[in-house]
Amino acid sequence: MSKGRILVVEDETDIANLLHIFFTNRGYEVATAAKGREAFDRTRSRLPDLIVLDIMLPDIDGYEICRQLRTTTRTSHIPIVFLTQRDERSDVIAGLELGADDYITKPFDMEELGLRVRNAINTHRRTNMTDPRTGLPAARLIEEQLRQLIRVKGWTYVEIHIDHLAPFRDAYGYIAADEVLRYSTLLLNEVMNEFGGERDFVGQAGDQTFVLITFAQNSSFIVNELQRRFNDKIGTHYNFMDYEQGGIRRPDGSLAPLIQLSCGTVTSETRKFSDIREITEAAAEARR
Ligand code: CA
Repeated sequence: MSKGRILVVEDETDIANLLHIFFTNRGYEVATAAKGREAFDRTRSRLPDLIVLDIMLPDIDGYEICRQLRTTTRTSHIPIVFLTQRDERSDVIAGLELGADDYITKPFDMEELGLRVRNAINTHRRTNMTDPRTGLPAARLIEEQLRQLIRVKGWTYVEIHIDHLAPFRDAYGYIAADEVLRYSTLLLNEVMNEFGGERDFVGQAGDQTFVLITFAQNSSFIVNELQRRFNDKIGTHYNFMDYEQGGIRRPDGSLAPLIQLSCGTVTSETRKFSDIREITEAAAEARR
């Protein structure tokens, strides 16, 4: 497994290339963005495990990027390491105030940056903040979101389960099954980028379960759209024969159907919730 995905946001090509090579050699998956806008697009379509963020960029500065990522629920947990100019103490303070996790001053020592990045990612994973396969917020962050729901209105909570993933994993192996997880995550991010809002949240609650919280009015449309896009392309994960016969033939001759998403929805309008467990139980029940 990759040590994590890093997004390097830096407009100076030499530095960006250097960081790309350095982190790739150390077993990370690396993406780069030379502009602020590009940084948002890349972050939202596939959540990185960490962002190395330069402050001086041609369009939006690093502070603004950090601020927007922190105030958007779906990206608020991603660790950020700032690249600052030497001796600009005000840079450092401004960055840390905005919620940056760490900083390093230019010209920087590669080994030091490597260690800071490694530590930030490990801390995050050790505390179960994110799922290493998808980069999505995991148990602890989901609970935090749920606790906030108790106090507010206008939300829809959706439990999304990947049905029939177990027989798929048995037949095609765990790497193929992880691909399905990533494919689902990609679609979730895609749909939420198109139809979701700033306060919306996507998390991974378990091996085959996602959680979606949205404040959008058209939540049932979002869920339908997600299922439609999922069914549209899930066939590409199967071989021709399995797809044609509509699933995987088990040793006993029965058919394990094609993978699909089943969704259970609860909203703040249906009833009043006083405990986060009531929300997850109601959603699980609605799904079944
Ligand atoms: Ca720069």
